[in-house]
Amino acid sequence: MLLKNALYVVATPIGNLNDIGLRALEVLAGVDAVAAEHVQNSKHLLSHHAIHTRLITLHQHNEAAVAHQICASLAAGKSVALISDAGTPAISDPGALLVQQVHKQGFPVIPVPGANAAICALSAAGIVNPHFLFYGFLPAKAGQRQRELKTLALLPYTLVFYEAPHRVRASLNDMASVLGAERQLTIARELTKLFETIHQCRLDEAATWIEADVHHQKGEFVILVSGAQTPGNAGISEQARNTLTLLLAELPLKQAVKLTAEISGENKNTLYQLALSLKP
Ligand code: SAM
Repeated sequence: MLLKNALYVVATPIGNLNDIGLRALEVLAGVDAVAAEHVQNSKHLLSHHAIHTRLITLHQHNEAAVAHQICASLAAGKSVALISDAGTPAISDPGALLVQQVHKQGFPVIPVPGANAAICALSAAGIVNPHFLFYGFLPAKAGQRQRELKTLALLPYTLVFYEAPHRVRASLNDMASVLGAERQLTIARELTKLFETIHQCRLDEAATWIEADVHHQKGEFVILVSGAQTPGNAGISEQARNTLTLLLAELPLKQAVKLTAEISGENKNTLYQLALSLKP
């Protein structure tokens, strides 16, 4: 049963059209209108699921005007769903302005969660560091991009970027030179699609991988870069860090440190400092 006067913010697939929840389908079929970035793209998704709800266009250039119209529809007792071309609306996509307006007018905003490329990549990357920073798209111009990367260089969190295929090579080069060649990189390409690829290497090995096959430069990309080494974790190998994290979940801190030192050969004091920062 759908609420009248409500805006539903509905996540849609990032590739595989079946990656959509039952509740999302119910909402898309039941609302009075669906606001979508590109009507043609969304028609394809909706007709795949035999949904024929009226579509209206909402993109970054008309969002303010369409938000006004949608608020008027909500005031008249209609319900509307917001979707984007792929994934979760308002995440590197239009929608935030509309959601802001709907909150301001006092109508309910109801999220219907689902696919998101960044979370999908993180879930399949096996990165033990529980903290990440979602950045999204870096600036297109090299100078601005490098300046922006410098502001991220000291953060101890996994950095999560979206990138377009025609810029992926240049961005990876800038990341290697600004963030450091030895950082661990995950390239998650074409997630949930036919040519899905998850490749892991050091940042300074990215260029070789990208050049090795023309297909490696095509499609949609999420790029994950390991966080900066902090005084607490400097010099400790990724493998030792993973071992320590796993043991900390099962054993008291001292025992986890002792066993990790024996397994990895890393310095016990350094591991102890790292354990203190990892222990919840
Ligand atoms: N709102 C979307 C979400 O929730 O993930 C993101 C939209 S943003 C305009 C599009 C970017 O997301 C792409 O350029 C790419 O970086 C990333 N992306 C979307 N789908 C992807 C996929 N299937 N595989 C890898 N990256 C993807």
